[in-house]
Amino acid sequence: MSDPIDGITLRLGDLATEKPVLTPDINPEPVAQAPVEEKKEEDDSNLIQSTHVVQVKLADQQADPNSPLFSVKSFEELGLSPELLKGLYAMGFTKPSKIQERALPLLISDPPRNMIGQSQSGTGKTAAFVLTMLTRLHLGVNAPQAICLAPSRELARQIIDVVQEMSKFTSITSKLVVKDSLKRNEPVQAQIIVGTPGTVAEVIKRRQLPVKAVKIFVLDEADNMLDQDGLGDQSIRIKNMLTGSPQIVLFSATFPEHVRKFATRFAPEANEISLKREDLSVDAIKQLYMDCDSEEHKYETLCNIYDLLTVSQSIIFCKRRDSADEIARRMRAQGHLVGSLHGKMLPEERDQVMDDFRRGIFKVLITTNVLSRGIDISQVSLVINYDLPLDQRGQVDFEAYLHRIGRTGRFGRTGVSIILIDNKKSWEQMREIETHFSREIALVPTDDWQAVEKIFKEII
Ligand code: ADP
Ligand code: MG
Repeated sequence: MSDPIDGITLRLGDLATEKPVLTPDINPEPVAQAPVEEKKEEDDSNLIQSTHVVQVKLADQQADPNSPLFSVKSFEELGLSPELLKGLYAMGFTKPSKIQERALPLLISDPPRNMIGQSQSGTGKTAAFVLTMLTRLHLGVNAPQAICLAPSRELARQIIDVVQEMSKFTSITSKLVVKDSLKRNEPVQAQIIVGTPGTVAEVIKRRQLPVKAVKIFVLDEADNMLDQDGLGDQSIRIKNMLTGSPQIVLFSATFPEHVRKFATRFAPEANEISLKREDLSVDAIKQLYMDCDSEEHKYETLCNIYDLLTVSQSIIFCKRRDSADEIARRMRAQGHLVGSLHGKMLPEERDQVMDDFRRGIFKVLITTNVLSRGIDISQVSLVINYDLPLDQRGQVDFEAYLHRIGRTGRFGRTGVSIILIDNKKSWEQMREIETHFSREIALVPTDDWQAVEKIFKEII
């Protein structure tokens, strides 16, 4: 069942009924006032002005049938409770995005059905599955009923924040389960659990977290969670511990063919919502590259970018933890205010760096693939691929690339991504990316910074 109008393919699970899936109590009066005002949390800084511009553009995009942010329905029509609607409006959500509008009615209808959902980065997948978890709970039962897993600590923390924001007008309880977030032997009684697979598996095994009442199991970044050895094994182990045959919900911006097959076994008879391959690349992100003569020239070019351009916030991706540390050390020695984050750091260090970056205490974050997925910081307008992401065989990892650049250009915003090339191999790999996504990656000079600045100003 494909819908030629908006480019989203909808495949209903075999057992899906023909009937409309929801009968909402249509409430013509929004529960709370829509939110342009709400966003003005700070004084009259530049931040507000840019937020305002974004709001205007956002409305345009949400009215454009070709935009992934388009919807014909309101949140009221999606059948959510008044308390959840209030939470959504307080967060500044006025209208659902396309994936929310399409997925939510299927996700919250009864009997519960599995879902495999795919849409571009920054189009609001989180709210789709968080609202589903919040809707599925029996409020009188004080035990875990929903488990959501994410591939990194940082993403799990971000999702639990969304859960808590959205549910703040309800009595729903939630708990983050990542390394060091629980006291030893502390029993987990919260209704919604968000965590990383290793820690969640461990606390279930130790019987700290009862799973008898779990009725929904969500994997964010599902292709990643089901693919690689570690995460995949653990997600499967956890699923096998959930004896109450929960609804299984998988979301990602990417589902490469080999994972999709497995996903359909992991979530049998799922409703599927997916985008055409060519719609995956986000056109709000301008993709550029700079041609450097050597590794050292590449480093100098990186510093020049920050000396000469005024970017709000940016993320630099490198291939290894030690290269992230090394670049951060050199940039700091030259007076740049930067942070670095990778998997070898202690949990509390990682939390501190992430919190500081979110609060804008430093503007440049140097990291590895650990932050390539899911992180949502609207102020990030530039992503730099200092090294291109490669898979274990040394080939370009197209999915990782798409997720990395998707850290900018979120929910209707524009962004820039730059690949720094320093040899023939990396140049060829850049060309492969161009071909794979059928999108031009434009050359920017490394010796004409006025031209570079002009290109930037036009985009951001
Ligand atoms: P995805 O998981 O699809 O990459 P996210 O769920 O992280 O995207 O959402 C991207 C951003 O869009 C977030 O900052 C989120 O708060 C915002 N957002 C999501 N849905 C809406 C909506 N309906 N209205 C306004 N903003 C939204
Ligand atoms: Mg996401």
